[in-house]
Amino acid sequence: MSRPAVAHIRLDAFRHNYRLAKKMHGGRALAVIKANAYGHGAVQCALAIADEADGYAVAAIEEALSLRAAGITAPILLLEGFFEAAELPEIVAHNLWVVIHHLWQVEALMAAQLRTPLTVWLKMDSDMHRVGLATDEYRRVYERLQGHPNVADIILMSHFARADELDSCYTSRQIHTFHTAIAGINASISLSNSAAVLGWPDAYADWARPGIMLYGANPIAGQEGQLNMPLRPVMQLTSAVISVRTVSMGEAVGYGGVFVADRTTRVGVVACGYADGYPRVAPSGTPVAVDGKLTCVIGRVSMDMLMVDLTDLPETGLGSRVELWGDQVSVNEVARRAGTIAYELLCNVKRVRFVYTDTPTEEKL
Ligand SMILES: *Cc1c(COP(=O)(O)O)cnc(C)c1O
Repeated sequence: MSRPAVAHIRLDAFRHNYRLAKKMHGGRALAVIKANAYGHGAVQCALAIADEADGYAVAAIEEALSLRAAGITAPILLLEGFFEAAELPEIVAHNLWVVIHHLWQVEALMAAQLRTPLTVWLKMDSDMHRVGLATDEYRRVYERLQGHPNVADIILMSHFARADELDSCYTSRQIHTFHTAIAGINASISLSNSAAVLGWPDAYADWARPGIMLYGANPIAGQEGQLNMPLRPVMQLTSAVISVRTVSMGEAVGYGGVFVADRTTRVGVVACGYADGYPRVAPSGTPVAVDGKLTCVIGRVSMDMLMVDLTDLPETGLGSRVELWGDQVSVNEVARRAGTIAYELLCNVKRVRFVYTDTPTEEKL
């Protein structure tokens, strides 16, 4: 018998979410599968939509090359472009697209000797103030790159800082800043991350760049806990109860004794801990589902195990199946309890067995 901790990855749900993102936004969509597809397995996710994906986006050439090695032929965008000019020949050889976000990249690209011109996604800092060219240098750079022998197409792009906050006017301002700065330039545009696909139709343009929504997690503030939206959770993180004991009122459970029973408590021990990516900071009360019924974590999450309250679930016990997140327990809710976001929890999943399933989907959205 092997350790029961498993990440079930439903590729049909991933495909459904990609189609939904594309349908909501219109136009074309790059599936953002950086960081090993937010922990889900980049090659498996890419292959699941290979027949229909307009392209993919990753953080670095290493990620792109493993997709090419797996037979992915669609465009792949490097979201930070190249980190040094020495990458350019390989970028050309593997037909990758690059984001250009800084003047040093502009100079390096124009100075390079390339066999074929590159498709460039020219990134503007429309006030996120992380990466991107300043609005007042953007047009000049565009004009220098346009028609340069090393440059094929140029796509105009920017990124939102607060698209998950529907009650903030920051995104509207960013959209306005972007359009003001590109006035008169005739080129394709890409603005929308998942939150914008879900919440900001004003940002819709030629290309969307959905990430987290493809994995079934809604990033919009206040909607995170909802499981009944059209997005389908892709990962179900499960394990099993490997030990059960009953403690009396007043007895402490686990490291630090941070949970003290306030009644006679039936404690189940689950084979999943922070070494598997379950957040150590998830406090007592964080929801889990045991044999389909909701209960909660008690005590401190340890490296390989965590404890759950089985007091009110007498029919559960040794071997009971535990869902840490997935269909019944929203990964967003676990993240909220742990003071973080679903992105981080999903990216952190490791050591568990990954089991992939794919039910062919004929549905057309
Ligand atoms: C990661 C990333 C995305 C996807 O963001 P989500 O919030 O996961 O949808 C889109 N664009 C850029 C530039 C990114 O870095």
